[in-house]
Amino acid sequence: MSVRPYRDIQRRKSRQIRVGSVLVGGDAPISVQTMTNTLTSDIAATVAQVKAAEAAGADIVRVSCPDEDSTAALKEIVKQVTVPIVADIHFHYKRGIEAAEAGAACLRINPGNIGSAERVREVVKAAKDHGCSMRIGVNAGSLERELLERYGEPCPEAMVESALTHAKILEDHDFREFKISVKASDPFLAVAAYQGLADACDYPLHLGITEAGGLRTGTVKSSIGLGSLLWAGIGDTIRVSLSADPVEEVKVGFDILKSLNLRHRGVNLISCPSCARQNFDVIKTVEALEKRIAHITTPMSVSIIGCVVNGPGEARETDIGFTGGGNDTHMVYLAGQQHHRLKNQDIVEHMAELIEKKAAEIEAAKAAEKAKTSAAAAE
Ligand code: SF4
Repeated sequence: MSVRPYRDIQRRKSRQIRVGSVLVGGDAPISVQTMTNTLTSDIAATVAQVKAAEAAGADIVRVSCPDEDSTAALKEIVKQVTVPIVADIHFHYKRGIEAAEAGAACLRINPGNIGSAERVREVVKAAKDHGCSMRIGVNAGSLERELLERYGEPCPEAMVESALTHAKILEDHDFREFKISVKASDPFLAVAAYQGLADACDYPLHLGITEAGGLRTGTVKSSIGLGSLLWAGIGDTIRVSLSADPVEEVKVGFDILKSLNLRHRGVNLISCPSCARQNFDVIKTVEALEKRIAHITTPMSVSIIGCVVNGPGEARETDIGFTGGGNDTHMVYLAGQQHHRLKNQDIVEHMAELIEKKAAEIEAAKAAEKAKTSAAAAE
């Protein structure tokens, strides 16, 4: 029994597959993905974007492979990055084979769209030969005509049927190393489709609200759609689709997972909205602090609160707390306890230094624990 059962999420039991070095499904951490928007044939630009996404925490990055130049470039791209690369393939089975040969960790491909059984067999063979997994990606906007005619419009049942039909094709070729997505831009439709699919199979699910919109509206839509699924235990890997920089997609993806306690990366910053009671400029301080500590990847919690109304209570629950006090005399808390006062000092720099120190301590303790475990295993 956990201490706070109201926070527990029971994850759906899914099969586990591998996307390069990243495990997806089963008890693997829910991974965060994004997709490049450079021309894949522009190797330097694509590598730079993949690396930026990786630095922001992306576990997996997808690139489009619409033509031969792209799959040729892919070969160079995978050599220059460490994060597993998913090749996005539509219709052209040859691009799928080339991408598998080029070192893609996963192919996003719908086997029902690439033609004859012989073509599917060739793609599956290439995937097997090169240790490549696949993602079946059903999209409400591109459902098969036959399904649309039968169901009348894109609906959860049609999306699930489409996904299972593609899955059956791969199963018939004795291939089960795949995950599935059933995306829609409408969160109601996407959520219902994922729920149906989660009930109908045990394949790992890649979640996404497609074409969700710009940074703010897309974040809200994705948080509602992905958030409700993840809260119900559904989802093994996620991609937030925004008309914005891929780095933003990664940040939002992590923030969704962090909000649900499903992944921890970097500082979980708790701050008040501020009001007339604030004893320092909370909004400016938090904005500057977020930028200053963006490089911290060690999980920890920090509270920055404008006054004593909520400051001490929040500080008790966080690793490092800060509460604004009168006459520019503020209180700093460490491990929930009052630690020292801060008077007329640069709040951002002071807190950033404390956070960096705490991160170094946590990392050192982790390294010591790891060394102890491996020493014990060697005995
Ligand atoms: S904690 Fe204090 S400053 Fe912040 S919103 Fe509440 S009352 Fe206002």
